[in-house]
Amino acid sequence: MGVTHAARSRSRHQAFRSIRRQLLQDQHLLLRQAASWAPPATESELPADVLDIATCDRDLALDDLMRQRAYLRLQQVNRALSRIDQASYGICHLCRADIPLPRLRAQPDATLCLECKTECEHRALLRTGA
Ligand SMILES: [Zn+2]
Repeated sequence: MGVTHAARSRSRHQAFRSIRRQLLQDQHLLLRQAASWAPPATESELPADVLDIATCDRDLALDDLMRQRAYLRLQQVNRALSRIDQASYGICHLCRADIPLPRLRAQPDATLCLECKTECEHRALLRTGA
């Protein structure tokens, strides 16, 4: 079984390399975009959810919304890039299962498998609903 595991782990690391290449491309693009505007002064000034602004602040220009979104995406890319070299990358923080590659490609900074994420969201929903 050791051989099988090694082969599987090797193919995952090849996939991580291709995800990293994609992340670096995204980072390059986003940084070029960001060069034309200044990011928010501090992270705390960033709204937790871009959608909240869209609904709460109708006066906010679409341009600002695009900036916020690009800035949040850049943070996500940077987070993923800093994690991808760690041995724990791609492993669910809760159940220690391998996070499926399609999920990592869609959300490279994911730290939970879909089951655990769904479970967490469900619990959060129960908390807010109570
Ligand atoms: Zn999990």
